[in-house]
Amino acid sequence: MHQNSSLSAHVSRTIVTNAYVVTVDAADTEYPSGFVVIDGKVVVAVGPGQAPAWAFSGSPAPAIAARDGAAGAVDSGTGTGTSTSTVPVNSTPHDSRRATVTVVDAGGHLVTPGLINTHHHLYQWLTRGYAQDSILFDWLVSLYPLWSAIDADLVEAGALGAMAVAAKSGCTTVADHHYVFPSGSGDILGGIVRAASELGVRIHATRGSMDLGRSQGGLPPDFAVETIDAILAASDQAIDQYHDASPGAMAQIALAPCSPFSVTADLLTESAALGRVRGVRLHTHGSETVEEDAFCQTKFGKTPTQYLEDLGWLGNDVWMAHCVHLDEHAIGRFAATGTSVAHCPSSNARLAAGIAPVPGMLDAGISVGLGVDGAASNESGQLGTEIRMAVLMNRLRAGADGMPGRRAIRMATMGGATTLGRDHELGSIEPGKLADLAVWKIDGVEHAGILDPVAALTLGSLPPLALLLVNGERVVENGVLTRVDERVVANAVAKASTTLQRR
Ligand SMILES: [Zn+2]
Repeated sequence: MHQNSSLSAHVSRTIVTNAYVVTVDAADTEYPSGFVVIDGKVVVAVGPGQAPAWAFSGSPAPAIAARDGAAGAVDSGTGTGTSTSTVPVNSTPHDSRRATVTVVDAGGHLVTPGLINTHHHLYQWLTRGYAQDSILFDWLVSLYPLWSAIDADLVEAGALGAMAVAAKSGCTTVADHHYVFPSGSGDILGGIVRAASELGVRIHATRGSMDLGRSQGGLPPDFAVETIDAILAASDQAIDQYHDASPGAMAQIALAPCSPFSVTADLLTESAALGRVRGVRLHTHGSETVEEDAFCQTKFGKTPTQYLEDLGWLGNDVWMAHCVHLDEHAIGRFAATGTSVAHCPSSNARLAAGIAPVPGMLDAGISVGLGVDGAASNESGQLGTEIRMAVLMNRLRAGADGMPGRRAIRMATMGGATTLGRDHELGSIEPGKLADLAVWKIDGVEHAGILDPVAALTLGSLPPLALLLVNGERVVENGVLTRVDERVVANAVAKASTTLQRR
């Protein structure tokens, strides 16, 4: 995907300068005062000090040979002197001979890759505040009837609200797990994909499913489930309609039967087979609670991981949410098969599910991303704050050095990219990668004077988001969404929530 060097007269170049740049490349390179050069959708240079002259002149980037040069430079932090007082997003566009160049002075700011959310249930934005003191199974049973009344219009309103909040907390890519498809509810996935497009964020939507109703020994009521045939046909159709396999894709589809206690073994087997024939990824919940573990032991005589592995649900095309109760054997199987994990610390705390053994997973070589989970079990919906939550919660189990802040940032970026199969083009700031970036303001009263600027994001309050770029385009600017009117989104969410409540 590396673009070569000839710029047309219409290429739009953005130069971010004077920033503390956290690249999350393989060497964890940071530039205490550095630059990022973006041409169109793609990062073409990153490094210490001032951006090179060719960047300001609008000349083509000297190929991607710059990549190796940049990667070799570590922490010099020299070349810019003191930063200017310009507000970073007050940028200066000017036409040069070859390109339109916009310079963003990011003095007093931290630049990270855009954050990647690996697990959400966007529709739950409409059901925040319910069953506030319940464990997972009781919480689900109280919410299933309400969720069974959703339709495409309501879900689109909820998805807009949920992704608006995610974007405002630094998130550039959202993976959504949607598994409730009431009869006659319309094109729900279409609404989700449209909402992402309206906001300007990347979406990994899933065609999820439930087919194990209560009368068959499952947890969900019978009216909330579908038949296998209907699910597989709809899954096939969702891939045809919404899956973009091309480089730089803004929308992809995965298949996602909900959980061991809400789907049949046949659905798991057949969904995995279909996903592999169609070349899309597979997602589900696993090992979230002790009750789920007991369900699998009683019904199948196996742990959730043993059960899922026997049905083809471990593999490098699978990512699994939660994994709170993985034992040593399960961690070994995840590592051996390349199965990824979506770690959702806030949701696990709200439902008292437990503390996932994430440091052990990472040490074993498992790819772990962060997720907010649905807003019915994490009313915050902010991905940025999950970094701090991951740091704090994992220390409760693994000790003070069990989850360094930078390790959590890596989970929120490269970990997420790998988990979603996008590590070749997302997750780090390196030449050739897509220009998904978050620019955090750390010179305000909340963070000014902090010894380590990175700790502002990992341990401090969530820094104000000065700029969020997706594909090099501004999605958030000075904390405000650029493409939608937040008041309109908020009003639509309030109205849709009330409508659902009254159904
Ligand atoms: Zn979930």
